[in-house]
Amino acid sequence: MSVNQQAHTGPPYGQPQPGYQGYQQPAYGGQSLPGVPQAQYGAYNGPVPGYQQPVPPQGSLRAPPTSGAPPPASGASHPSGHLAYSQFEHGDVQNGIPASAAPMQRPPASQPFLPGSAPTPVSQIPTFQQYGAPPASVQQLRNHMAGMTIGGTAASAPPPAGLGYASVPPVSGSFSATGSGLYTPYSASQGPPLTSVSQGLPLAQPPFPGQTISTQHLPTQVPGFTPPPPSTGVGPSSYPPTTGAPRPPAMPGPPLPGQTVAGPPSSQPNHVSSPPPPSTMAGLHPGPPMSGLHGPPPPTHPPQPGYQMQQNGSFGQMRGPPPNYGGAYPGAPNYGSPPGPPPPPKRLDPDSIPSPIQVIEDDRNNRGSEPFVTGVRGQVPPLVTTNFLVKDQGNASPRYIRCTSYNIPCTSDMAKQSQVPLAAVIKPLAALPPEETVPYLVDHGESGPVRCNRCKAYMCPFMQFIEGGRRFQCCFCSCVTEVPPHYFQHLDHTGKRVDFYDRPELSLGSYEFLATVDYCKNNKFPSPPAFIFMIDVSYNAVKSGLVRLICEELKSLLDYLPREGNMEESAIRVGFVTYNKVLHFYNVKSSLAQPQMMVVSDVADMFVPLLDGFLVNVNESRTVIASLLDQIPEMFADTRETETVFAPVIQAGLEALKAAECAGKLFIFHTSLPIAEAPGKLKNRDDRKLINTDKEKTLFQPQTSFYNNLAKDCVAQGCCVDLFLFPNQYLDVATLGVVPYQTGGSIFKYAYFQLETDQYRFLNDLRRDVQKEVGFDAVMRVRTSTGIRATDFFGAFYMSNTTDVEMAGLDCDKTITVEFKHDDKLSEDSGALLQCALLYTSCAGQRRLRIHNLSLNCCTQLADLYRNCETDTLINYLAKYAYRGVLSSPVKTVRDALINQCAQILACYRKNCASPSSAGQLILPECMKLLPVYLNCVLKSDVLQPGPEVTTDDRAYVRQLVTSMDVAETNVFFYPRLLPLTKADVDSDSLPAAIRNSEERLSKGDIYLLENGLNIFVWVGVNVQQGLIQNLFGVSSFSQISNALSTLPVLENPFSKKVRSIVDMLQGQRSRYMKLIIVKQEDKLEMLFKHFLVEDKSLSGGASYVDFLCHMHKEIRQLLS
Ligand SMILES: [Zn+2]
Repeated sequence: MSVNQQAHTGPPYGQPQPGYQGYQQPAYGGQSLPGVPQAQYGAYNGPVPGYQQPVPPQGSLRAPPTSGAPPPASGASHPSGHLAYSQFEHGDVQNGIPASAAPMQRPPASQPFLPGSAPTPVSQIPTFQQYGAPPASVQQLRNHMAGMTIGGTAASAPPPAGLGYASVPPVSGSFSATGSGLYTPYSASQGPPLTSVSQGLPLAQPPFPGQTISTQHLPTQVPGFTPPPPSTGVGPSSYPPTTGAPRPPAMPGPPLPGQTVAGPPSSQPNHVSSPPPPSTMAGLHPGPPMSGLHGPPPPTHPPQPGYQMQQNGSFGQMRGPPPNYGGAYPGAPNYGSPPGPPPPPKRLDPDSIPSPIQVIEDDRNNRGSEPFVTGVRGQVPPLVTTNFLVKDQGNASPRYIRCTSYNIPCTSDMAKQSQVPLAAVIKPLAALPPEETVPYLVDHGESGPVRCNRCKAYMCPFMQFIEGGRRFQCCFCSCVTEVPPHYFQHLDHTGKRVDFYDRPELSLGSYEFLATVDYCKNNKFPSPPAFIFMIDVSYNAVKSGLVRLICEELKSLLDYLPREGNMEESAIRVGFVTYNKVLHFYNVKSSLAQPQMMVVSDVADMFVPLLDGFLVNVNESRTVIASLLDQIPEMFADTRETETVFAPVIQAGLEALKAAECAGKLFIFHTSLPIAEAPGKLKNRDDRKLINTDKEKTLFQPQTSFYNNLAKDCVAQGCCVDLFLFPNQYLDVATLGVVPYQTGGSIFKYAYFQLETDQYRFLNDLRRDVQKEVGFDAVMRVRTSTGIRATDFFGAFYMSNTTDVEMAGLDCDKTITVEFKHDDKLSEDSGALLQCALLYTSCAGQRRLRIHNLSLNCCTQLADLYRNCETDTLINYLAKYAYRGVLSSPVKTVRDALINQCAQILACYRKNCASPSSAGQLILPECMKLLPVYLNCVLKSDVLQPGPEVTTDDRAYVRQLVTSMDVAETNVFFYPRLLPLTKADVDSDSLPAAIRNSEERLSKGDIYLLENGLNIFVWVGVNVQQGLIQNLFGVSSFSQISNALSTLPVLENPFSKKVRSIVDMLQGQRSRYMKLIIVKQEDKLEMLFKHFLVEDKSLSGGASYVDFLCHMHKEIRQLLS
């Protein structure tokens, strides 16, 4: 049955609905119309300042009553799924939210720094055990470390792997075995070459001058680095001699001509493609590890201008290698065993530099046992890697909001001086562990939530009630507002309302309000949302078995659509479309005996050929849907159509939702570059030659603005797009991803999808994506107290003005990062407040407001800022900032800016907070001691420094993915978790202790697991006992292990069970199902695995941690001199 060119019936889909303009922003087209009130969600966004009374949006029939009968008190109405507020525990809240309680972690008083004294008992700080030694051992360390030089010397350093910043030189068009490589240009973007940096010595860490030391706020002192002797001809390869210039200009490395490395098109992890052929690995690093870096400083080099001789006397002293230095470096034959080949002569001991593992472990030990109670302003939460419970006592849980710093400089000058970005990473609908309570829903009836008259902030624990409770003063803008009669309550002798504990909005950091009709589009309560499944049925999709797989899965999955609380069935309606060059709509009305297909072949002007029967209730149409899902794979089994359209598919979904007057989500399963003649048609413009040129940014930009406009239309309708991609070649993720990205949707990518190995992962992702909590038609605004304001936003959303973040859909995994800037002075007394308000439609069609409040401290001393920072959040922000930067700037510029900003952050600390000490020492703030290692991971990530195996689509994919990640996700993504499985205790539930991401930590007799949120690698050493191999893989020898396995075999023995339970546990912690990849040591896939050993130098030229630390030190010294 074919219905082509069917005339439009019913409502004019393509045209604005009546009243629609009431929803649209006047400035929707991107043009700013100053002076025109932002009409969309008038009640939500609030009138312009000075406006005195809330007025409903245009067309509103009811204004919120300002007097009259009070609506039901809060707690009177509890939609299912929300706990009755009467259950709210409040017994242990004694005094409400202390407005300015002393932060727990602030040291009591300042202690003068006593030179030479050991500042703090070292025993309290496990982290410092290696180098926080008492004076006696300091000398030992001094001797040990002194003179160890990291530097490239042209003369002594053979070129194998290049220097910290050098990459391997190009040799030929292939990944060659010379130990060089063809990736020079990548390295070129890495900033200045590393000149030799000799190691000073680690002294006991000095306290801040004039500050106290608490165990949590010790500065970290990395073994001091002496000033680098200049190095000409640094290193082997790719960059020019520094000739003393601190920062060489753009690297001269030419763009890679015809980089052709491409791997076999099979079984690739999410964002990595094939490894280079195994043969290329041998000899890649023939020299001793990092040989270019560890040689003695070239004595002939003249002192570099701008550098002073280091003052600790260590310069020039030579030391042998640490006795147990493993020596292994990627490609080196020894894994964790003493080196066979000549050991590198000198080297900064990796154990002496800040270890992520140690920091994570310490935080777990120190903060994992007690619940994190949010009653105190400016408290730094435990790390994301620590398991902890949260007790809401007036500030939002760190699961909802994390900040780069919990102590904000009082002035913008201070903020600029420190260069520490002030940002909050917000996950408004975050899923909570079962032990924690979801936000209570407050229903104020027709009057809606109580708000400040001026700034429209919502009632929250920080509002001050005055005049016996008749008015309240806004904590954000200080405006005084009358308390509506129905909300009036007396105050107790402390000035607190006597119903304080009964109202979530007075005592909790996070809660929800039921929104009134004033908060609804067109002043109409929304209809329940719809899900539309849109399946590519072109040749590739059918042949790979994908179409059949999807249809089979949907038959059962449709019974698990999101439901509101304990509702019997989901309110979400479903619809089905298949497509190749044309679109097929299906009528699955319950009264039909068989589904009906309607074909729209004129894709240039998309419309929906049927109104009735397209979106249906799953239960009512169960048989018809089942029949359809049975028939689809058969109908297209013999298709020869290879071309697809894409934009018309989205348009069709959008039109269907418009016609149904509801929000919803499109699940699009797509396989290829849409080259068929249609709007949004794309061409293959992939060009790796652009890498490392000024045009590299175009690889991240969409090739047409068509999709941006389409995204805007989708957002206006609340049409969120989730895209499942199954490419066998380039399909331009940068362009196809525009609509998912701007509508708050997700992209999942399964390159070279193979049913056997990838179906489990895909189905898990699909199941979770369909079932997870999601809000529709969402608008988020972040209000701040006077003095700071939100100035920048990162994430998957659309903005039509400068304040409101719009998302057609927002799920529990998505974060929005907000940056703040000063617009006035802040005061230490009042601190700073954030209120994030998210207006959204629940999966049952209920309009709600979710409110998160957070109070922060403010400081006049920079040291307070540095003591209350959170590096994981900082890295989350910096990565997003950089990943957005590549859209408009050359990657090298972005990388340099990142390095520079972090150097400034650390230099400011050194200058203003650290005690006077040798310039040769690198001193890091305790809270930021991991900044260098994590920053290096960002710099060498695929987006900023792609290896040869990384495709343009991989980079675009990861770029978008990271932009919506929360702090826990970026943490493990940039610094993967590496677990020695063979050390796991099979009798306990615990995980084996993680180890640092470096090849030298691996032993060839062990099996390791590495996860980064997208992939899980299981690495098997060549010397693993045969019994272990048998137990885990069910084969009798190493050589029989198949790396085609996508899951571990289910074997009945303790080791197998333990490892599988670890894998399952990790899978459960991540928002995406990770691809399992078995890597045998010395196998070709090992190259992929090594890419994730982020403390090591990477093949794409990324610096090792040690080298980067030296480089950062140099940058800092330059800033200080
Ligand atoms: Zn206000």
